Amino acid sequence: MKNYIPDIYQKDIKTINYNKLKKRKIKCLIFDLDNTITNYYNNNIDKDIISLFDSLKKDFKVIILSNSTKKRVSKIANKLKVQYIPLAMKPLAFNFKRIMKRYHLSNDALAIIGDQIMTDIKGGNKVKIVTILVDPIDDKELSITKINRLIENHKLKTLSRKNILKRGNYYG
Ligand SMILES: [Mg+2]
Repeated sequence: MKNYIPDIYQKDIKTINYNKLKKRKIKCLIFDLDNTITNYYNNNIDKDIISLFDSLKKDFKVIILSNSTKKRVSKIANKLKVQYIPLAMKPLAFNFKRIMKRYHLSNDALAIIGDQIMTDIKGGNKVKIVTILVDPIDDKELSITKINRLIENHKLKTLSRKNILKRGNYYG
């Protein structure tokens, strides 16, 4: 169960306290794409998200790590002018390790931000980086994600019953 619990839980990527992460010596922010930065069917990015990323890039290495296709991920990453890894196969660890190698950083300097416990949080906890859960932007999702959500809802029920993690009870 421990692998499913995020260190931080916030409503969305705009409500995360990035200053706190900076103080915690986080150097690299790994972002999930679909339902974290934008809807999975949307190729447009709001201006406020573009300016958020512009300011984050001043303080952190920023990279998108997504299980989506290169075609999809590159479109958004190019708009935000950040690096990206598509077809990431989260929660598998190898792409997290690849990022550590690429930026010469150890696990305690990285944070993953994503909307899925089964991929983003589990993957991040496996490699012992800071894990940040956000609420999904909306409920329109790919079929693979729908399957993950069924398992996730089951985990969330258990975590909620134990008062560890409840939807809407943000922390960190
Ligand atoms: Mg996602």
